[in-house]
Amino acid sequence: MKELDIKLGYNCNNKCLFCLNQDKRAFSYNNEELKEQIRKSAESGCQRLIVSGGEPLIYKNFFEILKYAKMCGIPYYEIQTNGRILSYEEVVKKIKDICQNVHFLISFHYPNAEMYQKYSQVDGFDQVLEGFRNLQKNNLEFTTNTVLFKANINYLNQIFDILEKVGSKRGQFRFIDGTNVKNEFFDYVPRMEEVIPKIKEVILKHPKMKIHIHEIPYCLLQKDLIEFTSPVPNIERENYNLKKNVLNSREIVRQQFENPNCRECVYKNECIGVRKTYLEFYGDKEIKPILKKL
Ligand code: SF4
Repeated sequence: MKELDIKLGYNCNNKCLFCLNQDKRAFSYNNEELKEQIRKSAESGCQRLIVSGGEPLIYKNFFEILKYAKMCGIPYYEIQTNGRILSYEEVVKKIKDICQNVHFLISFHYPNAEMYQKYSQVDGFDQVLEGFRNLQKNNLEFTTNTVLFKANINYLNQIFDILEKVGSKRGQFRFIDGTNVKNEFFDYVPRMEEVIPKIKEVILKHPKMKIHIHEIPYCLLQKDLIEFTSPVPNIERENYNLKKNVLNSREIVRQQFENPNCRECVYKNECIGVRKTYLEFYGDKEIKPILKKL
């Protein structure tokens, strides 16, 4: 499916300490440029608009952009958000009215309000829970996104217990991109092999949830978890980027990931490999080619 991922900007109502976009806050997109890209993509068959950020719901032009995309004929939508503003039910209803077919990807990294305050530096935990309730009340589907980082990897089961209680059917794990915490890399970024058994426990304890694992290579997931790996990046997904041009998702992966020790691996064409920043700090000792299909 052809998709377009746009950002309205990189500002946010949270201040997550490990945020990828901390250095991009001042950057903004021109409304007319965004609309032009949406029109071009719609004309070339785009079926889904993904609105991400920063936090897209804090932007004044959020609804205007959705309405414009709808007018251009794009039928499906995904809103990627920290979920706090969804605690206002009128916002949820308005999004549904405009888009009709809309899915939400909502960040959920902590098991309690204290950790939310400590690492996202705002009092947002209860708002996100209210946001989940509002989506449910309005029959809207969502997936949750949990970034794996040193402070939360011992709480993954508690996080998913909460998600199951609020009716989440789909969750994903993303391994922290350590690029913006290079000065404190080892405080934030765990070894991937340390995280694997903890993910396994969550999957065993929550069999009703559909869980995907992003950005951990097949050789670490091994036989038990390989079926939970995320789908390969969509080559038909255009990402409108900081330079105001579009790159497809596989090009972005190629810029950020590397396949070390992979020449003989039977999965070398499917597996995205390992983030370059991770290799810079932890090296490639964990990466071992798989010689026979698992
Ligand atoms: S050896 Fe390389 S291609 Fe094979 S699973 Fe590991 S990272 Fe992926």
